[in-house]
Formats: sequence, C-alpha cells, structure tokens
Amino acid sequence: MTERGGVVDRADFVPLHELAAHRQRLWDSQRRYVRANSALYQRVWDGMELPEVPEALDDLAALPLVDKEMLRASQRDHPPYGDYLAASPDRVRRVHRTGGTTGEAMNLALSVIDAEQTAIVGARAQSASGLGPGDVVVHCLNYQMWMGGFTDHTTLEATGATVVPFGVGNPQLLLRTIRELGVTAISCTPSYPAVLEQVASEMGIDPASLGLRLGLFGGEAALDVPGFRGRLESTWGFAARNSNYGVTDVMCNVAGQCEHQHDLHFVGLDVLHPEIIDPATGAVLAWQTGVSGELVLTHLARECQPLVRFRTGDIVTVTEVEPCACGRTAPRLQVTGRSDDMVVVRGVNVFPTSVAALVTADPGTSGEYRIVLEGPGPYDRLPLEVELAVDIPVDSERARAIAERIGDAAQRDLRVTATVSLLEHGTLPRTEGKTRRVVRR
Ligand SMILES: [Zn+2]
Repeated sequence: MTERGGVVDRADFVPLHELAAHRQRLWDSQRRYVRANSALYQRVWDGMELPEVPEALDDLAALPLVDKEMLRASQRDHPPYGDYLAASPDRVRRVHRTGGTTGEAMNLALSVIDAEQTAIVGARAQSASGLGPGDVVVHCLNYQMWMGGFTDHTTLEATGATVVPFGVGNPQLLLRTIRELGVTAISCTPSYPAVLEQVASEMGIDPASLGLRLGLFGGEAALDVPGFRGRLESTWGFAARNSNYGVTDVMCNVAGQCEHQHDLHFVGLDVLHPEIIDPATGAVLAWQTGVSGELVLTHLARECQPLVRFRTGDIVTVTEVEPCACGRTAPRLQVTGRSDDMVVVRGVNVFPTSVAALVTADPGTSGEYRIVLEGPGPYDRLPLEVELAVDIPVDSERARAIAERIGDAAQRDLRVTATVSLLEHGTLPRTEGKTRRVVRR
C-alpha cells in the first residue's frame, strides 16, 4: 500500500481492513489539525481539549453532527470562507461557488493538496465507470464556477484519458467535435443527450454512428428511472453509467458505477470516514449490507475546509460490502433520497422513494403522488394524495378499491397507516426528475 499526502494508491482495490488502519492513522493528525485551526469546530466541540476529542474513529459518535446550515451561517458571519477555513487564506488555490442562483452562494476553498486529492478520488469513480487511457472524453458541464465543470474536468484527466473541455451550449459544434476528434466518451447531464439527438437529426447524423462507447453522467438519479438507461444506450450505442456521485462540501466526486452492476462504488475510503445515521435521532447505524440512513462524512486529510461528522442530507442504502466482480473492494451504495424529504409517522421513517414504489406498482394510479403535511408534526398517519390513472373517476367504485389497496400496501410495506386522497388524472404538476413529493403546510 503506497500513499502520498494521505491518498492511497488505488485505494478502491485495497482490502478494507488495511484502509481502516490507514484511516485511523490519518484521523489522529487530522483531529489535532482541526482542533488547533478550525474556529467552527473549536466552538462546536465546546472547549473540548484534544485528549477528549476521540482518538479512535469508532468513537466519533461522541462528537456533535454538523450540517449545511451551520456552514452557511459560518460563511455569513465570517466571509468569504467561513470560520471552518483551517488554513491560511493564501493556501487557497481554487475557489468554487455554488447555489448562487437559488440562495446564498457557498464558497468552497481548495488548497493544492485538497485539489489533487479531489482529482484522484474523482478519477477512481470515473475509472470504475470505464474511462481510462486511450479514451477521448468530451466534458459538457458548465465550467462557470461550480465544481461540476472545472473540478470534474480534473477528475477526468486524472483517469489518464484525453479530455476535451467543451462546456455547455453549441451542440452542432459538439457533434462535429465528437466526430472529428474521435471522441469515445461524453460526460454530461442525463438530460443532455435528448437535446443532442434533436440537433443530430437536423444535421442528418445517427447518434449511434458517432462512435461513443461510454456515456458518463451524474448529479441526478435519472439513469435509475426504468427504461431511461436502455433507451439512451440503444440510441447512442454507448454504455450509460452514473460515474459521479459527490457531496459538494466534502468531495466533488466520491462514487461511481462499474460495468458489472449499477450500485455506486464508494471509492474515497482512504481520505474520508463515512458513517450512516438514523436521520431522525442521529444514532449511528452499523455500516453493513442492507442498512439505510443518512450519510455522514468526515475528512481525514483536508487542509482548507475540513469537516468532521458532516450530515450530507443524502439517504443511502449500503448494498454490498464484499468485493465487486470488477475487483474493487469499495463498498456499494444506492442513494435513495434526501433526509429533508423524510417523514416520521409514529416513529417510522418514511421516504418518498418507498411511497413511489407502492404507488407505481398499482395500475390504477398514474404513478404521481404527494405527501401533504399539515403543521410541524408529529404525525400519526401518512397523508397521501394519489393521482388516478386515465379515465378512472374519483368517486367511482374502482377508485375506492384503489385507495383501499394503497392503504393496505402502506400498512404492509411501510408499516404506517396512510390517509389516501385520490386525485383525478393530470392534477399534479409534472416536472421531470425534480417533482417535490413532500409538501409542508
Ligand atoms: Zn464493480
């Protein structure tokens, strides 16, 4: 096992027990560094002296959790980087900004070491998805400030592939570039190929004739929508993979799919310590196959903005901890939702994804639904609005049977009592991929 600056060579193939020992070594110096240099953690750890900051990673639960709102407040009070900047500002070599269009912008600072580590870990995810030396990949994400552009570019380069920094827009030029440079892979959002197909058809180009063998996507769960991946692959003749799951404040890209299966390989175990917690209580859950909860991440070797026990807000399920057929030891995850969308009904955690499963399974519905919560809770029942399939009137006998079936399924599959209100077909808004399933009034 060779390492440099905390980063282990090919860590995604190293036996997990070796990585655990390595993580433990890194944590011992990282906790000293954070304790000495991060004003935010000095405050959050409330006067804890170093001997009290757990030395063993297994005891990390003794430390409080930190969330995005705390980082926002820190940047608001201590602009521009917040008082969790643990390094001198002149160590900051790259700054990304995110979220500026929808709310307060967050400023993400990377030192030389942070940036190098980010590129190497991200490259593991892209490599798992099949990118490597000999490939020419065109990167079609927005390069303006956010990490998905420039920093993802560095991850693509670190795989050994040749990278074409295309950015967004100008699809005609993109299609010509793919053909003329012999591009073999495209990195873009899952919705972009549909735009390109339109333009290709106007130019008389069959997408499958372009010679792309790999479509690399991330950021959205669209690839997991039944039928979407297959349609993309047959139109383009490439393998479509989610090569890019990341948590902006922690690591740009830390998990990707491989050619053997579609779960995300968590490839950052040398520099990150992951935990899974019950999002309602904060209790730590065992990191083992089948466990679901909110992903909490701790940096083990971060210079500029190190985070300890950061709540990602992502609900994940650990699907496998044994090595994959691809040879990687990296444990596999599925990202199933956001903790903000979790509803607690009589102590049971309910996620929109599990509600979706039972609603779409019923042929009497359109598959559209909403959970409409009145007041702050606690809730005794799950208030569910379900849209009927075409041509089923709300006040019909059929509709009543559908409501009953869904109520029974909620009891059986989710272990909660649902109040099912039926809506006529077409009542709920359709917004591709981004529909708000939980409405709080
Ligand atoms: Zn694999």
